[in-house]
Amino acid sequence: MRRSAPDKPDVLLAGGGLASCLAALRLAETRLKVVLVEAGSQICGNHTWSFHQTDLPADDLERVAPLIAHSWQSQKVVFPRFERVLSTPYASITSETLRAAVYRSENITVRENSPIEDLGADHAVLDNGDRIHADCIIDGRGFSDAPGLKLGFQKFVGVELELDRPHGEQMPTIMDASVDQQDGYRFFYVLPFSPTRLLIEDTRYSDGGDLDFEALHSDILAYAATRAWVVKKAVRTEKGVLPVTLAHDVERFWSAIPAATAPIGLRAGLSHPTTGYSLPMAVETANLIAALERPLTTDRVRRAIYRYAVTRNREQAFFRLLNRMLFRAAEPEKRYIVMQRFYTLRQPLIERFYAGRVRLADKMRVLVGKPPVPIHRAIGCVSEARALAGE
Ligand SMILES: Cc1cc2nc3c(=O)[nH]c(=O)nc-3n(C[C@H](O)[C@H](O)[C@H](O)COP(=O)(O)OP(=O)(O)OC[C@H]3O[C@@H](n4cnc5c(N)ncnc54)[C@H](O)[C@@H]3O)c2cc1C
Repeated sequence: MRRSAPDKPDVLLAGGGLASCLAALRLAETRLKVVLVEAGSQICGNHTWSFHQTDLPADDLERVAPLIAHSWQSQKVVFPRFERVLSTPYASITSETLRAAVYRSENITVRENSPIEDLGADHAVLDNGDRIHADCIIDGRGFSDAPGLKLGFQKFVGVELELDRPHGEQMPTIMDASVDQQDGYRFFYVLPFSPTRLLIEDTRYSDGGDLDFEALHSDILAYAATRAWVVKKAVRTEKGVLPVTLAHDVERFWSAIPAATAPIGLRAGLSHPTTGYSLPMAVETANLIAALERPLTTDRVRRAIYRYAVTRNREQAFFRLLNRMLFRAAEPEKRYIVMQRFYTLRQPLIERFYAGRVRLADKMRVLVGKPPVPIHRAIGCVSEARALAGE
């Protein structure tokens, strides 16, 4: 239900995407009055947000459980050299499930079709001239390029297909990289939603962010044909171009964020540098904001998110190094070898990698042995400062 906005909400969240909606739900639980202001015709867009269940601690998993539309007890990967099943449970939240939870919350008011033109520390100005005041303004308006970042791209098109006959897939295929390598590291991602329904994505880890939607769409149909899946109809499509962070100067990045705003989600650069997944960090951020001392103010949230971003940035240096090796040391058509080798490692390490919480021993394990890329090129990737300087 979309209620009329309270005269002065406690919190205004700019943008009704993943990070804002998760934060709104968490704040609403603490009985704060929240307004979500979304430019598009509906909050939550058109997404399938998936995660490895080991990405989240048990209490967070319980909290997001009502949002989960599909879940599986295992997953697999396929490479030219081997196929491997992992017993890591996987789950997907969809735009529909998240939207429904937000609409249901009595403490959240949603304003859609309302592009924000200006944000201050205590107000937002909409394109129709409306001004909404709140002591706490949080900016969740999604990715915006900023200084202090060197990026590669993970780009993909996804098509949800209804098939003529059951496909027989019991678990998600996180990567099928046994396919033709094109435009960088390329793999298909397959989620079985029902016995006759699949989401298939064609993903590429590429140097450029341009996405040829039609070409990838027809490649997905061709892939389905190679698997002998007979398509009855295409039900839905989604697409994305996500940043893969090669180098990140967190201080420079934050110096470009207007001082009067408190960013979250991709706006604050909060995603896994390698996978581009942002759901686990969005859940953590929502918890962090909800636990802050009251009254909640823009400045208090900004300072807390800044501290969190700086800490996570330090912890993620290793992932950015791996990204540089993937993008700068490996030939584009050989990038899959890096991932193929990674998937020979032990399952708990792989789980910690996806959760963004690797230990020192994990890092050594990933780096020891014969490198899957030329050694002189790997050494050339070590310095993040040089990568930032464009060398
Ligand atoms: C198709 C796709 C699939 C993805 N799959 C996964 C996945 O499986 N797992 C995962 O963890 N991550 C996934 N990601 C990556 C990441 O989690 C998402 O991009 C996520 O939606 C980012 O969350 P966010 O809240 O920062 O931004 P968004 O969800 O992009 O939300 C930003 C919102 O702000 C609104 N907005 C922008 N400007 C204005 C304005 N001026 N006024 C008002 N509103 C505005 C936008 O319309 C949008 O609704 C996926 C991304 C895409 C694109």
